[in-house]
Amino acid sequence: MMDLVIPDKIHDESRQGEALVLEPAAGKNNGRKLYIESYGCAMNFSDSEIVASILLEQGFETTADYSVADVIFINTCSIRENAEQRVRNRLKEFTVAKVKKPGLVVGVLGCMAERLKSKFLEEEKLVDVVVGPDAYRDLPNLIDQVDSGQKAVNVLLSREETYADISPVRLNSNGINAFVSIMRGCDNMCSFCVVPFTRGRERSRDPQSIVAECTDLFNKGYREVTLLGQNVDSYKWKAGSESEGPSSESETNPGDNTTNFANLLELVALVNPELRVRFSTSHPKDITDEVLHTINKYENICNYIHLPVQSGNSRILEMMNRTYDRDWYINRIDAIRRIITDCAISTDVITGFCTETDEEHNDTVTMMDYVKYDFAYMFKYSERPGTLAAKRYADDIPEEIKQNRLQQIVAKQQEYSFYRMQARIGKVEKVLIEGYSKKSDKDYCGRSDQNAMVIFPVGENYKPGQYVNVLIERSTSATLIGKVV
Ligand code: SAM
Ligand code: SF4
Repeated sequence: MMDLVIPDKIHDESRQGEALVLEPAAGKNNGRKLYIESYGCAMNFSDSEIVASILLEQGFETTADYSVADVIFINTCSIRENAEQRVRNRLKEFTVAKVKKPGLVVGVLGCMAERLKSKFLEEEKLVDVVVGPDAYRDLPNLIDQVDSGQKAVNVLLSREETYADISPVRLNSNGINAFVSIMRGCDNMCSFCVVPFTRGRERSRDPQSIVAECTDLFNKGYREVTLLGQNVDSYKWKAGSESEGPSSESETNPGDNTTNFANLLELVALVNPELRVRFSTSHPKDITDEVLHTINKYENICNYIHLPVQSGNSRILEMMNRTYDRDWYINRIDAIRRIITDCAISTDVITGFCTETDEEHNDTVTMMDYVKYDFAYMFKYSERPGTLAAKRYADDIPEEIKQNRLQQIVAKQQEYSFYRMQARIGKVEKVLIEGYSKKSDKDYCGRSDQNAMVIFPVGENYKPGQYVNVLIERSTSATLIGKVV
């Protein structure tokens, strides 16, 4: 995989493998230390916060140093092959720690759990406990089981679990931005993707619990929430019933007691005008004009949409089972440009999918020319066992061609990221200050409404968590630089 490094919190490469630490719950210390490390998407980081909440209640304390831990968890991602390899290598390091400290519990959580349970537990003997993303409530029992000398597994997927009632502790938080899961799983079955197998069926979380969590975050000083789901546009909740799967209607027209994604966005926007609302990921087949109008209506819903295209060619999109074609995608882009004033758009692209020709790859390039994305995540196709594509199609594009195509689109995206950034020069951006810039404590950094990272000098009259207006004076392809006005 080769990603273009872009300033996007949802898929933050710099956080991969990050250890998460928090204060112990008052009066509940059981004397045991938990080390938890996370990989993959924001959903996984958000899940680690749920895991930490559950174990905090059991009296665990967290540590950033695995050599002093009593329980080591690694929250895994299996979206691409290299992610799996990374975790396996890490587990081998933990096995060495186990030799030094008998009684140390090592566990695998998350997306790799189901697929690799027998391999990690029985064959490679790398772990004591394997827990899937819907079984975190069972963790205290599973740890007890391991303490009594047994191996423990729970990889059952659920049709109901949303952890709605668990108020996640915020790990390594800056106290300003927080992720809020609004749904789990995915029903889409894109042919290249393991998520439907690792995270199960799609289910939405009760909107009242989402609003309550966002209100609580605001009251604690947070100023930005990012609503998370694999396909947020198919969020759907029917009052008085269990959560529902996606609607079959794409232009949703819910009855009085149904909350769709546009309704949810509005509810969260109304928590407080000072709370910024972001969301990810949108699916081109489901994003409705109603959602776009809601974004445009509320100043605090950010003008930024991550709309993964994957390929610009209709035949490849059909093989990918994305259920839209090139024209449909362009129609959605045009709708965004028409309805929302000044909206940034980012995307995900896969190069070298099965049977992709040079001409078909070129359709992706021309799509990039059409949209001129602000940011993009670009990947080489990586065949994942068990997926529809692995069953149906040969992974027949040579590595070198995949790589060349990837390099071509990475170069193209760099041009367009720079072009988009340059277009902001001379404009005033409303920025939510997140903290000091990575390079200097003389500068603050924060994001614009359109999700661009903005750097500007520290000043006495403003501090992290506040909004400032910044006049943009120059840019790189990833950052805007300016001064407060
Ligand atoms: N649900 C989101 C969507 O539909 O776009 C994102 C899912 S996935 C966690 C994030 C991205 O990983 C996808 O958009 C896709 O570009 C990439 N991806 C998923 N499976 C892949 C594979 N087998 N090979 C390469 N890239 C893959
Ligand atoms: Fe995977 Fe497609 Fe679901 Fe995204 S929408 S998680 S790519 S199956």
